[in-house]
Amino acid sequence: MSRAGVDRALRRSFQRRLLKWYQSQGRDLPWRRTRDPYRILVSEVMLQQTQVERVLGFYDKFLKRYPTVAELASAPPSKVREAWDGLGYYARARNLHRTAKQVLHRHGGQFPRRYEEVHRLPGVGRSTAGALMSFAFNVPTPILDTNVKRLLSRVFIHRPSPTPAQMERRLWRLSTSLIPNGETWAFNQALMDFGALVCTAKNPRCHTCCLSDMCRAYPKLTRGGVQRR
Ligand code: SF4
Repeated sequence: MSRAGVDRALRRSFQRRLLKWYQSQGRDLPWRRTRDPYRILVSEVMLQQTQVERVLGFYDKFLKRYPTVAELASAPPSKVREAWDGLGYYARARNLHRTAKQVLHRHGGQFPRRYEEVHRLPGVGRSTAGALMSFAFNVPTPILDTNVKRLLSRVFIHRPSPTPAQMERRLWRLSTSLIPNGETWAFNQALMDFGALVCTAKNPRCHTCCLSDMCRAYPKLTRGGVQRR
């Protein structure tokens, strides 16, 4: 058993199946066609409290207005607020604006590449920092957004930890231990998509799921014909 309590064969099988699924079913999203940390951060911040479909309507417009971190940093706050209009949770726009200023003034216009520095940027939590490190710099760094938490809990956790904090730590260890060598980018994207498209909060697609035979939650979720094919 590994540090995170997952058998090596099980881990490999999970990695292999998830990556294979992603190759054919993963979503082609505009922020996946770039390695520019600024553009990736804009998408991650927008996605923090907003569904992908809704973000798609705002992402290109925002970047057309502020195509670089320097242009966002130099914009007046009222204009940034205006560009964010319709997305809600304006604290995100304020933090993104503050981040742009920090990148410009403290880091000479280049995004920092060390996890600790990325994590210190305004509004960049642990999972957003992990996404930036893995999607912009391909550094093996775990992510744990709501979709990923649900997926990992269902597949691997037999008995929940006694407290939410312990459960959270356990899931972070799990997410860290699962990253396959050299495939951080695709694997983390796959985790996100699988949680959003297959292992959904309501009506997960267990009967057609490629992970069903290794999933701890499968028998419970499909018991008594609750699910239909
Ligand atoms: S079998 Fe169901 S619960 Fe398990 S990973 Fe697949 S969709 Fe999620």
